[in-house]
Amino acid sequence: MTSLTASHAADLVAALLFILSLAGLSQHRTSRSGVVYGIAGMALALVATVVMAAQSITAGAVALIVLAMALGAAIGLWRARRVEMTQMPELIAVLHSFVGLAAVLVGWNSYLEVEAHGTAQTRIGADLLGIHHAEVFIGIFIGAVTFTGSIVAFLKLSARIKSRPLMLPGKNALNVGALVAFVALTVWFTVSPDLPLMIAVTALALALGWHLVASIGGGDMPVVVSMLNSYSGWAAAAAGFLLDNNLLIVTGALVGSSGAYLSYIMCKAMNRSFLSVIAGGFGIEAPSGGKEEQGEHREVRAAEAAEMLARARSVIITPGYGMAVAQAQHPVAELTRQLRQRGVDVRFGVHPVAGRLPGHMNVLLAEAKVPYDIVLEMDEINDDFADTSVVLVIGANDTVNPAATEDPTSPIAGMPVLRVWEAEHVIVFKRSMASGYAGVQNPLFFRENSSMLFGDAKQSVEEILRALTGDGRHQESAATRQATTAGR
Ligand code: NDP
Repeated sequence: MTSLTASHAADLVAALLFILSLAGLSQHRTSRSGVVYGIAGMALALVATVVMAAQSITAGAVALIVLAMALGAAIGLWRARRVEMTQMPELIAVLHSFVGLAAVLVGWNSYLEVEAHGTAQTRIGADLLGIHHAEVFIGIFIGAVTFTGSIVAFLKLSARIKSRPLMLPGKNALNVGALVAFVALTVWFTVSPDLPLMIAVTALALALGWHLVASIGGGDMPVVVSMLNSYSGWAAAAAGFLLDNNLLIVTGALVGSSGAYLSYIMCKAMNRSFLSVIAGGFGIEAPSGGKEEQGEHREVRAAEAAEMLARARSVIITPGYGMAVAQAQHPVAELTRQLRQRGVDVRFGVHPVAGRLPGHMNVLLAEAKVPYDIVLEMDEINDDFADTSVVLVIGANDTVNPAATEDPTSPIAGMPVLRVWEAEHVIVFKRSMASGYAGVQNPLFFRENSSMLFGDAKQSVEEILRALTGDGRHQESAATRQATTAGR
Protein backbone atom coordinates (compact mmCIF):
# COMPACT_ATOMS: atom_id res chain seq x y z
CA MET A 1 0.00 0.00 0.00
CA THR A 2 2.82 2.36 1.01
CA SER A 3 4.76 1.67 -2.17
CA LEU A 4 1.59 2.12 -4.21
CA THR A 5 1.06 5.55 -2.70
CA ALA A 6 4.72 6.41 -3.18
CA SER A 7 4.45 5.26 -6.78
CA HIS A 8 1.35 7.43 -7.35
CA ALA A 9 3.17 10.41 -5.83
CA ALA A 10 6.19 9.76 -8.09
CA ASP A 11 3.85 9.56 -11.12
CA LEU A 12 2.24 12.85 -10.18
CA VAL A 13 5.57 14.64 -9.64
CA ALA A 14 6.98 13.24 -12.90
CA ALA A 15 3.85 14.33 -14.83
CA LEU A 16 4.20 17.85 -13.35
CA LEU A 17 7.89 17.91 -14.31
CA PHE A 18 6.93 16.98 -17.91
CA ILE A 19 4.40 19.82 -18.02
CA LEU A 20 7.03 22.25 -16.66
CA SER A 21 9.44 20.90 -19.27
CA LEU A 22 7.02 21.64 -22.13
CA ALA A 23 6.41 25.13 -20.74
CA GLY A 24 10.17 25.75 -20.44
CA LEU A 25 10.93 24.50 -23.94
CA SER A 26 8.49 26.97 -25.48
CA GLN A 27 10.91 29.91 -25.02
CA HIS A 28 14.64 30.44 -25.64
CA ARG A 29 15.28 31.90 -22.26
CA THR A 30 13.77 29.01 -20.35
CA SER A 31 14.65 26.15 -22.69
CA ARG A 32 17.63 24.93 -20.64
CA SER A 33 15.51 24.58 -17.52
CA GLY A 34 12.86 22.90 -19.71
CA VAL A 35 15.40 20.22 -20.67
CA VAL A 36 16.45 19.78 -17.02
CA TYR A 37 12.81 19.32 -15.92
CA GLY A 38 12.32 16.77 -18.69
CA ILE A 39 15.42 14.77 -17.67
CA ALA A 40 14.38 14.87 -13.99
CA GLY A 41 10.83 13.76 -14.83
CA MET A 42 12.04 10.88 -16.98
CA ALA A 43 14.61 9.73 -14.39
CA LEU A 44 11.93 9.74 -11.68
CA ALA A 45 9.47 7.90 -13.93
CA LEU A 46 12.01 5.19 -14.76
CA VAL A 47 13.05 4.64 -11.14
CA ALA A 48 9.42 4.54 -9.95
CA THR A 49 8.44 2.06 -12.69
CA VAL A 50 11.35 -0.29 -11.96
CA VAL A 51 10.78 -0.14 -8.19
CA MET A 52 7.09 -0.95 -8.68
CA ALA A 53 7.86 -3.74 -11.14
CA ALA A 54 10.48 -5.23 -8.79
CA GLN A 55 7.73 -6.13 -6.32
CA SER A 56 6.03 -8.56 -8.64
CA ILE A 57 8.85 -10.00 -10.75
CA THR A 58 12.00 -12.03 -10.06
CA ALA A 59 15.40 -10.51 -9.30
CA GLY A 60 16.65 -11.93 -12.60
CA ALA A 61 13.96 -10.05 -14.51
CA VAL A 62 14.85 -6.81 -12.69
CA ALA A 63 18.50 -7.36 -13.61
CA LEU A 64 17.47 -7.80 -17.26
CA ILE A 65 15.45 -4.53 -17.17
CA VAL A 66 18.40 -2.65 -15.65
CA LEU A 67 20.73 -4.15 -18.27
CA ALA A 68 18.37 -3.12 -21.10
CA MET A 69 18.15 0.40 -19.65
CA ALA A 70 21.95 0.68 -19.36
CA LEU A 71 22.38 -0.52 -22.95
CA GLY A 72 19.70 1.91 -24.20
CA ALA A 73 21.25 4.79 -22.25
CA ALA A 74 24.72 4.02 -23.63
CA ILE A 75 23.45 3.91 -27.23
CA GLY A 76 21.40 7.09 -26.68
CA LEU A 77 24.38 9.00 -25.24
CA TRP A 78 26.63 7.83 -28.06
CA ARG A 79 24.15 8.93 -30.76
CA ALA A 80 23.35 12.24 -29.06
CA ARG A 81 27.06 13.14 -28.91
CA ARG A 82 27.63 12.35 -32.59
CA VAL A 83 24.49 13.70 -34.22
CA GLU A 84 24.78 16.90 -36.26
CA MET A 85 22.04 19.52 -35.88
CA THR A 86 21.16 18.97 -39.54
CA GLN A 87 20.52 15.26 -38.80
CA MET A 88 18.14 15.92 -35.88
CA PRO A 89 14.87 15.46 -37.83
CA GLU A 90 15.95 12.05 -39.10
CA LEU A 91 17.07 11.04 -35.59
CA ILE A 92 13.71 12.16 -34.19
CA ALA A 93 11.95 10.14 -36.90
CA VAL A 94 13.91 7.00 -35.92
CA LEU A 95 13.09 7.55 -32.24
CA HIS A 96 9.38 7.84 -33.09
CA SER A 97 9.64 4.51 -34.90
CA PHE A 98 10.89 2.91 -31.64
CA VAL A 99 7.86 4.22 -29.73
CA GLY A 100 5.60 2.82 -32.45
CA LEU A 101 7.33 -0.57 -32.38
CA ALA A 102 7.15 -0.66 -28.57
CA ALA A 103 3.38 -0.03 -28.71
CA VAL A 104 2.96 -2.88 -31.23
CA LEU A 105 4.98 -5.27 -29.03
CA VAL A 106 3.08 -4.25 -25.88
CA GLY A 107 -0.20 -4.87 -27.73
CA TRP A 108 0.87 -8.30 -28.95
CA ASN A 109 2.25 -9.23 -25.53
CA SER A 110 -0.96 -8.20 -23.83
CA TYR A 111 -3.04 -10.24 -26.30
CA LEU A 112 -0.87 -13.37 -25.98
CA GLU A 113 -0.84 -13.08 -22.16
CA VAL A 114 -4.64 -13.08 -21.99
CA GLU A 115 -4.81 -15.89 -24.58
CA ALA A 116 -2.37 -18.03 -22.59
CA HIS A 117 -3.59 -17.41 -19.04
CA GLY A 118 -7.08 -15.92 -19.39
CA THR A 119 -7.83 -12.89 -17.25
CA ALA A 120 -7.00 -14.71 -14.00
CA GLN A 121 -3.34 -13.63 -13.89
CA THR A 122 -3.96 -10.12 -15.20
CA ARG A 123 -5.66 -7.10 -13.68
CA ILE A 124 -8.41 -7.25 -16.29
CA GLY A 125 -11.89 -8.12 -15.04
CA ALA A 126 -13.76 -10.64 -17.22
CA ASP A 127 -16.47 -8.01 -17.83
CA LEU A 128 -13.84 -5.61 -19.26
CA LEU A 129 -12.40 -8.10 -21.72
CA GLY A 130 -14.10 -6.49 -24.73
CA ILE A 131 -12.59 -3.10 -23.82
CA HIS A 132 -9.20 -4.75 -23.38
CA HIS A 133 -9.44 -6.27 -26.87
CA ALA A 134 -10.30 -2.87 -28.35
CA GLU A 135 -7.32 -1.32 -26.50
CA VAL A 136 -5.01 -4.00 -27.89
CA PHE A 137 -6.26 -3.39 -31.42
CA ILE A 138 -6.09 0.42 -31.23
CA GLY A 139 -2.62 0.33 -29.62
CA ILE A 140 -1.25 -1.99 -32.30
CA PHE A 141 -2.85 0.05 -35.08
CA ILE A 142 -1.47 3.43 -33.94
CA GLY A 143 1.89 1.88 -33.09
CA ALA A 144 2.31 0.13 -36.45
CA VAL A 145 1.28 3.25 -38.44
CA THR A 146 3.82 5.26 -36.40
CA PHE A 147 6.49 2.59 -36.88
CA THR A 148 6.49 2.33 -40.68
CA GLY A 149 5.53 6.01 -41.19
CA SER A 150 8.54 7.07 -39.12
CA ILE A 151 10.85 4.74 -41.01
CA VAL A 152 9.75 6.26 -44.34
CA ALA A 153 10.17 9.79 -42.88
CA PHE A 154 13.69 8.81 -41.76
CA LEU A 155 14.55 7.42 -45.20
CA LYS A 156 13.24 10.58 -46.92
CA LEU A 157 14.89 13.04 -44.53
CA SER A 158 18.24 11.29 -44.77
CA ALA A 159 17.90 11.24 -48.59
CA ARG A 160 18.11 7.42 -48.64
CA ILE A 161 14.95 7.45 -50.75
CA LYS A 162 13.55 10.22 -52.97
CA SER A 163 11.50 12.83 -51.14
CA ARG A 164 8.96 13.01 -54.00
CA PRO A 165 5.47 11.85 -53.06
CA LEU A 166 4.42 8.35 -54.11
CA MET A 167 1.36 8.83 -56.31
CA LEU A 168 -0.52 5.51 -56.36
CA PRO A 169 -3.84 5.69 -58.23
CA GLY A 170 -6.70 6.34 -55.79
CA LYS A 171 -4.29 6.93 -52.90
CA ASN A 172 -6.84 8.82 -50.80
CA ALA A 173 -9.38 6.02 -51.31
CA LEU A 174 -6.69 3.53 -50.18
CA ASN A 175 -6.10 5.50 -46.96
CA VAL A 176 -9.80 5.92 -46.20
CA GLY A 177 -10.43 2.26 -47.11
CA ALA A 178 -7.72 1.16 -44.64
CA LEU A 179 -9.36 3.24 -41.87
CA VAL A 180 -12.78 1.76 -42.58
CA ALA A 181 -11.29 -1.75 -42.62
CA PHE A 182 -9.62 -1.02 -39.26
CA VAL A 183 -12.94 0.01 -37.65
CA ALA A 184 -14.66 -3.09 -39.01
CA LEU A 185 -11.83 -5.38 -37.82
CA THR A 186 -11.91 -3.77 -34.35
CA VAL A 187 -15.61 -4.49 -33.95
CA TRP A 188 -15.07 -8.07 -35.16
CA PHE A 189 -12.11 -8.56 -32.81
CA THR A 190 -14.00 -7.44 -29.70
CA VAL A 191 -16.56 -10.15 -30.46
CA SER A 192 -14.15 -12.83 -31.57
CA PRO A 193 -10.48 -12.14 -30.61
CA ASP A 194 -8.72 -14.50 -33.02
CA LEU A 195 -5.08 -14.56 -34.03
CA PRO A 196 -5.68 -14.02 -37.80
CA LEU A 197 -7.39 -10.70 -36.97
CA MET A 198 -4.34 -9.61 -34.96
CA ILE A 199 -2.10 -10.45 -37.91
CA ALA A 200 -4.48 -8.67 -40.30
CA VAL A 201 -4.60 -5.41 -38.29
CA THR A 202 -0.83 -5.39 -37.82
CA ALA A 203 -0.21 -5.88 -41.56
CA LEU A 204 -2.90 -3.32 -42.47
CA ALA A 205 -1.45 -0.66 -40.15
CA LEU A 206 2.15 -1.29 -41.25
CA ALA A 207 1.10 -0.85 -44.90
CA LEU A 208 -1.02 2.24 -44.11
CA GLY A 209 1.86 3.96 -42.21
CA TRP A 210 4.22 3.30 -45.10
CA HIS A 211 1.77 4.53 -47.74
CA LEU A 212 0.63 7.57 -45.74
CA VAL A 213 4.12 9.04 -45.42
CA ALA A 214 5.43 7.81 -48.78
CA SER A 215 2.58 9.80 -50.40
CA ILE A 216 3.69 13.04 -48.77
CA GLY A 217 6.18 15.27 -50.57
CA GLY A 218 9.45 16.67 -49.22
CA GLY A 219 8.08 20.16 -48.57
CA ASP A 220 5.58 18.80 -46.07
CA MET A 221 8.09 16.66 -44.14
CA PRO A 222 8.32 19.10 -41.19
CA VAL A 223 4.59 18.70 -40.60
CA VAL A 224 4.87 14.94 -41.04
CA VAL A 225 7.64 14.70 -38.42
CA SER A 226 5.54 16.60 -35.90
CA MET A 227 2.45 14.57 -36.87
CA LEU A 228 4.41 11.34 -36.23
CA ASN A 229 5.52 12.86 -32.94
CA SER A 230 1.86 13.18 -32.07
CA TYR A 231 1.07 9.60 -33.21
CA SER A 232 3.98 8.26 -31.13
CA GLY A 233 2.45 10.01 -28.09
CA TRP A 234 -0.95 8.40 -28.67
CA ALA A 235 0.78 5.03 -29.24
CA ALA A 236 2.54 5.44 -25.86
CA ALA A 237 -0.78 6.39 -24.20
CA ALA A 238 -2.41 3.27 -25.69
CA ALA A 239 0.48 1.18 -24.30
CA GLY A 240 -0.09 2.90 -20.93
CA PHE A 241 -3.69 1.63 -20.85
CA LEU A 242 -2.55 -1.91 -21.63
CA LEU A 243 0.21 -1.84 -19.02
CA ASP A 244 -2.04 -0.11 -16.50
CA ASN A 245 0.60 2.62 -16.21
CA ASN A 246 -0.96 6.02 -15.46
CA LEU A 247 2.24 7.95 -16.07
CA LEU A 248 2.62 6.48 -19.54
CA ILE A 249 -0.97 7.50 -20.29
CA VAL A 250 -0.35 11.08 -19.09
CA THR A 251 3.03 11.36 -20.86
CA GLY A 252 1.62 9.89 -24.06
CA ALA A 253 -1.28 12.34 -23.98
CA LEU A 254 1.15 15.27 -23.44
CA VAL A 255 3.31 14.20 -26.38
CA GLY A 256 0.24 13.42 -28.51
CA SER A 257 -1.48 16.74 -27.92
CA SER A 258 1.66 18.93 -28.08
CA GLY A 259 2.68 17.18 -31.33
CA ALA A 260 -0.80 17.75 -32.77
CA TYR A 261 -0.66 21.44 -31.78
CA LEU A 262 2.80 21.85 -33.32
CA SER A 263 1.49 20.26 -36.54
CA TYR A 264 -1.35 22.80 -36.51
CA ILE A 265 1.07 25.74 -36.02
CA MET A 266 3.31 24.48 -38.81
CA CYS A 267 0.38 23.96 -41.19
CA LYS A 268 -0.61 27.56 -40.46
CA ALA A 269 2.98 28.71 -41.16
CA MET A 270 2.90 26.96 -44.53
CA ASN A 271 -0.69 27.95 -45.26
CA ARG A 272 -1.66 24.30 -45.58
CA SER A 273 -4.64 22.51 -44.16
CA PHE A 274 -3.82 19.42 -42.13
CA LEU A 275 -5.96 17.28 -44.43
CA SER A 276 -4.19 18.52 -47.55
CA VAL A 277 -0.87 17.57 -45.96
CA ILE A 278 -2.14 14.05 -45.25
CA ALA A 279 -3.54 13.88 -48.79
CA GLY A 280 0.00 14.68 -50.00
CA GLY A 281 1.10 16.22 -53.25
CA PHE A 282 3.16 19.22 -52.10
CA GLY A 283 6.76 18.91 -53.17
CA ILE A 284 5.98 17.57 -56.63
CA GLU A 285 8.01 19.62 -59.08
CA ALA A 286 6.07 21.84 -61.41
CA PRO A 287 5.96 20.53 -64.99
CA SER A 288 8.56 23.14 -65.88
CA GLY A 289 10.67 21.71 -63.04
CA GLY A 290 11.85 25.17 -62.12
CA LYS A 291 14.33 25.13 -64.96
CA GLU A 292 12.62 27.81 -67.05
CA GLU A 293 14.52 30.95 -68.08
CA GLN A 294 14.20 33.59 -65.39
CA GLY A 295 16.57 36.21 -66.81
CA GLU A 296 20.00 37.15 -65.54
CA HIS A 297 21.38 37.11 -62.06
CA ARG A 298 24.07 39.40 -60.67
CA GLU A 299 27.04 38.35 -58.59
CA VAL A 300 28.67 40.26 -55.80
CA ARG A 301 31.99 39.64 -54.09
CA ALA A 302 32.60 39.60 -50.35
CA ALA A 303 34.49 42.93 -50.39
CA GLU A 304 31.62 44.69 -52.16
CA ALA A 305 29.12 43.12 -49.77
CA ALA A 306 31.24 44.47 -46.89
CA GLU A 307 31.10 47.96 -48.42
CA MET A 308 27.32 47.76 -48.76
CA LEU A 309 27.01 46.63 -45.17
CA ALA A 310 29.31 49.35 -43.88
CA ARG A 311 27.10 51.96 -45.58
CA ALA A 312 23.82 50.35 -44.46
CA ARG A 313 21.46 51.93 -41.96
CA SER A 314 19.59 48.73 -41.22
CA VAL A 315 20.30 45.06 -41.98
CA ILE A 316 18.09 42.00 -41.65
CA ILE A 317 19.67 38.54 -41.75
CA THR A 318 17.40 35.66 -42.82
CA PRO A 319 19.14 32.34 -42.14
CA GLY A 320 18.14 29.00 -43.66
CA TYR A 321 19.24 25.42 -43.99
CA GLY A 322 22.52 26.43 -45.73
CA MET A 323 23.67 28.30 -42.61
CA ALA A 324 23.34 25.04 -40.68
CA VAL A 325 25.20 23.05 -43.37
CA ALA A 326 28.03 25.60 -43.47
CA GLN A 327 27.99 26.00 -39.65
CA ALA A 328 28.16 29.73 -40.36
CA GLN A 329 26.36 30.83 -37.18
CA HIS A 330 29.54 31.90 -35.33
CA PRO A 331 30.92 34.20 -38.07
CA VAL A 332 27.35 35.46 -38.62
CA ALA A 333 27.16 36.35 -34.90
CA GLU A 334 30.55 38.07 -35.14
CA LEU A 335 29.41 40.02 -38.22
CA THR A 336 26.33 41.09 -36.25
CA ARG A 337 28.53 42.34 -33.39
CA GLN A 338 30.83 44.25 -35.77
CA LEU A 339 27.94 45.94 -37.57
CA ARG A 340 26.11 46.85 -34.36
CA GLN A 341 29.33 48.38 -33.00
CA ARG A 342 29.32 50.59 -36.11
CA GLY A 343 25.78 51.68 -35.31
CA VAL A 344 24.01 49.54 -37.92
CA ASP A 345 20.60 48.26 -36.81
CA VAL A 346 20.93 44.46 -37.27
CA ARG A 347 18.07 42.01 -36.74
CA PHE A 348 17.28 38.42 -37.70
CA GLY A 349 14.10 37.22 -39.43
CA VAL A 350 13.41 33.54 -38.72
CA HIS A 351 10.86 31.60 -40.78
CA PRO A 352 8.97 28.93 -38.77
CA VAL A 353 10.15 26.13 -41.09
CA ALA A 354 13.64 27.43 -41.94
CA GLY A 355 16.21 24.66 -41.75
CA ARG A 356 15.18 21.08 -41.21
CA LEU A 357 13.38 21.10 -37.86
CA PRO A 358 11.21 23.53 -35.91
CA GLY A 359 13.41 26.00 -34.06
CA HIS A 360 16.53 24.91 -36.01
CA MET A 361 17.74 28.47 -36.66
CA ASN A 362 16.92 29.69 -33.16
CA VAL A 363 19.07 26.92 -31.66
CA LEU A 364 22.03 27.77 -33.92
CA LEU A 365 21.76 31.52 -33.23
CA ALA A 366 21.45 30.91 -29.48
CA GLU A 367 24.52 28.63 -29.65
CA ALA A 368 26.46 31.51 -31.28
CA LYS A 369 25.20 33.88 -28.53
CA VAL A 370 23.18 36.18 -30.79
CA PRO A 371 21.03 38.29 -28.40
CA TYR A 372 17.44 36.97 -28.22
CA ASP A 373 15.88 40.39 -28.58
CA ILE A 374 17.15 40.87 -32.15
CA VAL A 375 15.91 37.44 -33.33
CA LEU A 376 12.36 37.97 -34.59
CA GLU A 377 9.69 35.64 -35.94
CA MET A 378 8.50 36.01 -39.54
CA ASP A 379 5.25 37.74 -38.55
CA GLU A 380 7.10 40.21 -36.32
CA ILE A 381 9.51 41.34 -39.02
CA ASN A 382 7.79 40.87 -42.38
CA ASP A 383 6.49 44.43 -42.61
CA ASP A 384 9.96 45.88 -41.94
CA PHE A 385 11.77 44.62 -45.05
CA ALA A 386 10.51 47.53 -47.17
CA ASP A 387 12.36 49.90 -44.85
CA THR A 388 15.64 47.94 -44.75
CA SER A 389 18.92 48.82 -46.49
CA VAL A 390 20.40 45.33 -46.91
CA VAL A 391 19.03 41.81 -46.37
CA LEU A 392 21.51 38.95 -46.05
CA VAL A 393 19.86 35.67 -47.08
CA ILE A 394 22.24 33.12 -45.58
CA GLY A 395 21.57 29.66 -47.02
CA ALA A 396 17.79 30.19 -47.16
CA ASN A 397 15.83 29.47 -50.31
CA ASP A 398 12.21 28.19 -50.08
CA THR A 399 11.49 30.42 -47.08
CA VAL A 400 12.32 33.58 -49.09
CA ASN A 401 10.77 32.55 -52.41
CA PRO A 402 8.46 35.27 -53.85
CA ALA A 403 6.77 32.64 -56.07
CA ALA A 404 4.89 31.50 -52.95
CA THR A 405 3.00 34.80 -52.86
CA GLU A 406 3.09 35.80 -56.54
CA ASP A 407 2.69 32.63 -58.61
CA PRO A 408 -0.56 30.74 -57.95
CA THR A 409 0.73 27.81 -60.06
CA SER A 410 3.84 27.37 -57.92
CA PRO A 411 3.94 24.14 -55.85
CA ILE A 412 4.56 26.31 -52.78
CA ALA A 413 1.83 28.88 -53.62
CA GLY A 414 0.19 30.22 -50.46
CA MET A 415 3.08 29.38 -48.12
CA PRO A 416 3.84 32.55 -46.11
CA VAL A 417 7.45 33.61 -46.77
CA LEU A 418 9.86 36.30 -45.61
CA ARG A 419 9.35 39.23 -48.04
CA VAL A 420 13.08 39.95 -48.36
CA TRP A 421 12.73 41.27 -51.93
CA GLU A 422 11.05 44.43 -50.61
CA ALA A 423 14.39 45.65 -49.17
CA GLU A 424 16.73 48.05 -50.97
CA HIS A 425 19.41 45.35 -51.57
CA VAL A 426 19.34 41.59 -51.10
CA ILE A 427 22.51 39.50 -50.96
CA VAL A 428 21.95 35.73 -51.31
CA PHE A 429 24.66 33.49 -49.87
CA LYS A 430 24.71 30.05 -51.51
CA ARG A 431 27.00 27.83 -53.53
CA SER A 432 25.10 27.61 -56.82
CA MET A 433 21.78 28.43 -58.50
CA ALA A 434 20.33 25.10 -57.23
CA SER A 435 16.78 25.03 -55.85
CA GLY A 436 15.95 24.50 -52.16
CA TYR A 437 14.28 21.62 -50.33
CA ALA A 438 10.94 21.85 -52.18
CA GLY A 439 12.75 21.66 -55.57
CA VAL A 440 11.18 24.93 -56.74
CA GLN A 441 12.99 27.64 -58.74
CA ASN A 442 13.44 30.94 -56.88
CA PRO A 443 12.73 34.17 -58.85
CA LEU A 444 14.33 36.18 -56.00
CA PHE A 445 17.76 35.39 -57.46
CA PHE A 446 16.89 37.26 -60.68
CA ARG A 447 15.43 40.43 -59.14
CA GLU A 448 17.01 43.81 -59.95
CA ASN A 449 17.89 44.40 -56.30
CA SER A 450 19.31 40.90 -55.66
CA SER A 451 22.95 39.79 -55.91
CA MET A 452 24.34 36.30 -55.44
CA LEU A 453 27.39 35.79 -53.25
CA PHE A 454 28.49 32.32 -54.32
CA GLY A 455 30.47 30.00 -52.07
CA ASP A 456 30.21 28.26 -48.72
CA ALA A 457 28.27 30.59 -46.42
CA LYS A 458 30.82 30.36 -43.57
CA GLN A 459 33.74 31.26 -45.83
CA SER A 460 31.77 34.11 -47.45
CA VAL A 461 30.85 35.65 -44.08
CA GLU A 462 34.44 35.28 -42.86
CA GLU A 463 35.67 37.08 -46.00
CA ILE A 464 33.21 39.90 -45.37
CA LEU A 465 34.45 40.13 -41.78
CA ARG A 466 38.06 40.36 -42.94
CA ALA A 467 37.13 43.06 -45.44
CA LEU A 468 35.15 44.97 -42.80
CA THR A 469 37.91 44.85 -40.21
CA GLY A 470 40.43 46.11 -42.73
CA ASP A 471 42.43 42.97 -43.41
CA GLY A 472 43.16 43.87 -47.03
CA ARG A 473 44.65 40.56 -48.08
CA HIS A 474 41.23 39.26 -48.99
CA GLN A 475 39.87 42.38 -50.63
CA GLU A 476 38.66 41.80 -54.14
CA SER A 477 37.92 43.85 -57.22
CA ALA A 478 35.01 46.22 -56.81
CA ALA A 479 33.42 45.55 -60.14
CA THR A 480 30.06 43.81 -59.92
CA ARG A 481 30.07 41.02 -62.42
CA GLN A 482 27.13 40.18 -64.59
CA ALA A 483 26.56 36.49 -65.11
CA THR A 484 24.06 34.45 -67.01
CA THR A 485 21.67 32.02 -65.42
CA ALA A 486 23.41 29.15 -67.15
CA GLY A 487 26.64 30.11 -65.43
CA ARG A 488 26.11 28.02 -62.26
P1 NDP B 1 16.18 25.40 -48.37
O1 NDP B 1 16.34 23.96 -48.03
O2 NDP B 1 15.04 25.83 -49.19
O3 NDP B 1 17.51 25.92 -49.11
C1 NDP B 1 18.74 25.84 -48.48
C2 NDP B 1 19.77 26.45 -49.41
O4 NDP B 1 21.02 26.45 -48.71
C3 NDP B 1 19.96 25.67 -50.68
O5 NDP B 1 19.38 26.32 -51.77
C4 NDP B 1 21.48 25.53 -50.81
O6 NDP B 1 21.90 26.07 -52.07
C5 NDP B 1 22.04 26.39 -49.69
N1 NDP B 1 23.21 25.80 -49.06
C6 NDP B 1 23.41 24.52 -48.71
N2 NDP B 1 24.63 24.37 -48.18
C7 NDP B 1 25.21 25.59 -48.19
C8 NDP B 1 26.46 26.08 -47.78
N3 NDP B 1 27.41 25.28 -47.24
N4 NDP B 1 26.73 27.39 -47.93
C9 NDP B 1 25.82 28.22 -48.48
N5 NDP B 1 24.61 27.81 -48.89
C10 NDP B 1 24.31 26.50 -48.75
O7 NDP B 1 16.26 26.20 -46.98
P2 NDP B 1 15.18 27.02 -46.15
O8 NDP B 1 15.70 27.01 -44.76
O9 NDP B 1 14.88 28.33 -46.81
O10 NDP B 1 13.84 26.20 -46.23
C11 NDP B 1 13.65 25.01 -45.47
C12 NDP B 1 12.98 23.99 -46.33
O11 NDP B 1 13.08 22.74 -45.66
C13 NDP B 1 11.49 24.28 -46.54
O12 NDP B 1 11.08 23.83 -47.81
C14 NDP B 1 10.86 23.44 -45.42
O13 NDP B 1 9.52 23.11 -45.71
C15 NDP B 1 11.77 22.22 -45.44
N6 NDP B 1 11.84 21.48 -44.19
C16 NDP B 1 11.79 22.14 -43.00
C17 NDP B 1 11.79 21.45 -41.81
C18 NDP B 1 11.63 22.20 -40.54
O14 NDP B 1 11.01 21.69 -39.61
N7 NDP B 1 12.18 23.40 -40.45
C19 NDP B 1 11.96 19.95 -41.79
C20 NDP B 1 12.12 19.35 -43.11
C21 NDP B 1 12.04 20.12 -44.26
P3 NDP B 1 23.27 25.58 -52.76
O15 NDP B 1 23.18 24.10 -52.85
O16 NDP B 1 23.27 26.27 -54.07
O17 NDP B 1 24.37 26.04 -51.86
